[in-house]
Amino acid sequence: MEFAAPSVYLRTMTDQTSAAPLRQRKPDWIRVKAPTSKGFGETRALMRELQLNTVCEEAACPNIGECWTKKHATVMILGDVCTRACAFCNVKTGMPRAVDAGEPGHVAEAAARLGLEHIVITSVDRDDLPDGGAGQFVKVIRALRAATPRTTIEILTPDFRGKMPAAVAAIVAEGPDVYNHNLETVPRLYPTIRPGARYYASLRLLEEVKRHDPLIFTKSGVMLGLGEARLEVHQVMDDMRSAGIDFLTMGQYLQPTPKHAKVIEFVPPAGFSAYGAIARAKGFLQVAASPLTRSSYHAGEDFAQMRAARAALVAKTAR
Ligand code: SF4
Repeated sequence: MEFAAPSVYLRTMTDQTSAAPLRQRKPDWIRVKAPTSKGFGETRALMRELQLNTVCEEAACPNIGECWTKKHATVMILGDVCTRACAFCNVKTGMPRAVDAGEPGHVAEAAARLGLEHIVITSVDRDDLPDGGAGQFVKVIRALRAATPRTTIEILTPDFRGKMPAAVAAIVAEGPDVYNHNLETVPRLYPTIRPGARYYASLRLLEEVKRHDPLIFTKSGVMLGLGEARLEVHQVMDDMRSAGIDFLTMGQYLQPTPKHAKVIEFVPPAGFSAYGAIARAKGFLQVAASPLTRSSYHAGEDFAQMRAARAALVAKTAR
């Protein structure tokens, strides 16, 4: 396995050990405009009114201006406090509050008022709950199906560590259109970047989804720029294909605050294009790879393309 050490990698590692860390300047291809549009304000007002949390805000997503202008928000259920403390994630850590029984209805109302054709629902990790929070995903899916039956539903779940087979079975039984669970990074970096999780447990979760329902689209993503080597990323792609994952997302990791893991490398757009070409060659139905790609970025458009790609594949096989 190759462990590349580009110059930027070495320079930043030196910075990591210095007493006064240097501020990391983002390259031009990462910069985005501050959100000011009317649509952005309306989306924010609705989220406040319905007391919904979004990963867009909690994760300080750089795409919030673009997405919220188009009324695309990714709702984060089960509160805004996570029971894990991943080194890349901006969501608060601690003891979460009780589950909000009104949340499924509020999510459904938001989808209806925003007129969403496709919605992405994610959550914090809830290791404190006996079902890991799977029951709330089930309630949210049911509420959405009742209120906006034409809206396609994409869920992005935690790993349900210790509760996985039952949690996945309960959610898959509700028939979400896309089941997403992010591997986030290469297995070598898990102890520092995602210490509460296990790489192979996450892969098994995605296999389990397909075992229950081979027709559900599965999706997973990795962040680049955390010190991973090129061949390690290729191996993750192979692992994902072995688990039958349909859709791969790859985006640049950005350090949310100085307390979080540092960016080791800003991968240029051409680097993402190269990874994307390799992923397509490996057989993913859909690939999104660019510095600003996030799990839910352009999720509706990508879902439509993925569905069309599968239909074309089925038609070709039947010939
Ligand atoms: S990319 Fe996803 S998380 Fe980021 S603003 Fe858009 S919908 Fe929200």
